[in-house]
Amino acid sequence: MKRREFIKSSGLASAALGSTVLSSPAVHAGSSIQWKMVTSWPKNFPGLGTGANFLAKLIGEMSGGRLTVKVYGAKELVPALEVFDAVYDGTAEMGHSGAYYWKGKSEATQFFSAVPFGLTAQEMNGWLYHGGGMELWTELYDQFGLVPAAIGNTGVQMGGWFNKEINSVNDLKGLKMRIPGLGGEVLKRAGGTPVNLPGGELFTALKSGTIDATEWVGPYNDLAFGFYKAAKHYYYPGWHEPGPTLEAIINKKALRSLPADLQVIVMNACRVANQDMLAEYTTRNNDALQILVNTHKVDLRKFPDDVLSDLKKLSDEVVEELAARDPYSAKVYLSFKSYRDKVVSYHKISEQAFMDARARG
Ligand code: CA
Repeated sequence: MKRREFIKSSGLASAALGSTVLSSPAVHAGSSIQWKMVTSWPKNFPGLGTGANFLAKLIGEMSGGRLTVKVYGAKELVPALEVFDAVYDGTAEMGHSGAYYWKGKSEATQFFSAVPFGLTAQEMNGWLYHGGGMELWTELYDQFGLVPAAIGNTGVQMGGWFNKEINSVNDLKGLKMRIPGLGGEVLKRAGGTPVNLPGGELFTALKSGTIDATEWVGPYNDLAFGFYKAAKHYYYPGWHEPGPTLEAIINKKALRSLPADLQVIVMNACRVANQDMLAEYTTRNNDALQILVNTHKVDLRKFPDDVLSDLKKLSDEVVEELAARDPYSAKVYLSFKSYRDKVVSYHKISEQAFMDARARG
C-alpha cells in the first residue's frame, strides 16, 4: 500500500512506471543514431513542415529512441531546392520534398509527384503501392544512391492566384507564373513563362509583381501564406496537380547501415505519414476555404471548360513528347498511362458516379 501511495503521490501512472522498468535507458543512450532531415518547406509550415515533424517524431517513437531525426526548415541547413543534393552528398541522411523539383536530375522524377490531368491522391497511392509505381521510382533513385518513399499527398490542388481573369487559354500568354514540373511546361506551351520559386518566396514575388500569378497548394496552405492580400482571383481546379505526392529522399548508404528492424521502421513510418497528410489536407482545406471566401472575400472562380480542355490537349502533348525524348520517362509513362486508363474507366462507374449522384442530392 505504501509503495502504491508513493507512486500515486509522485504522479507516476503504473503503466508509465512499467515502461520505465521495461526499457533500458543506458542501452538506448549508447546506441542512439541521429539523422538529419532537410526539407523544402519553411520550418513548421502547416501540413508540409508539420508533416516532416510528424514523420521524424514517428521514427523516433517507433524505434524507441534508437533512431532520432532532427528536422531542418528550408535554408536552415540547405536551401529549399537543394534537398536532393544534400541527401545525395550525405549532408543529411533524409529529405522531405517533391520529386518534380528534381527534373534537372532526371525528367522522369516528375511522374512521381504530379502529372497534369493525371492521377488523384487515391489513384497515386494505388499506382505506387500496388500498380508498379514504387518499383520504378526506387529504380530511378537508385542510380543516385537514394531511396524514395511517398510521405504525403495534398489531394487536388487549386489552380492558383491571378490578378487577371482567365477567360481563354490566350489569357495565359505572356503570364509569368510560379508553377513547377510538367504543369510549368504546359504553361510554357500556352505562351506563358513558368518559374519555380520555393514556397517561402512566393508572397513577396506576387505582391511585388516579380511574378503575375502563382499556384501553391490549396486553401489550407494558401491562407497561411496570405496570397489573398496579393491577388484578386482564386481559380480552381488544380488541373496540373490532381494528387501530388510528397516524397522522402533517403540516403541509401545511411539506410542500409541501419539494423534491419530500423530500416523497416523508417519505411513504414513514411507509409503512416503518407496516409496522415492526405487526411489532414482533406479536413483543413474545407475550413480554410470558408475563411478565404467569407472573411477575406476572395473571388473564387472555376477555369472555363474550354480553358481546361485546351490545357488538357497541351498536357497530353507535353507528356507524350517527354516520353518520346527520355528513355526512362518512356518506361515510367508506359506504366503510368496504362494504370491511368484502367483506373479512369473503373472510377467512372464508382468514385465519379457516386460523387455526381451525391452532388445532385
Ligand atoms: Ca502546387
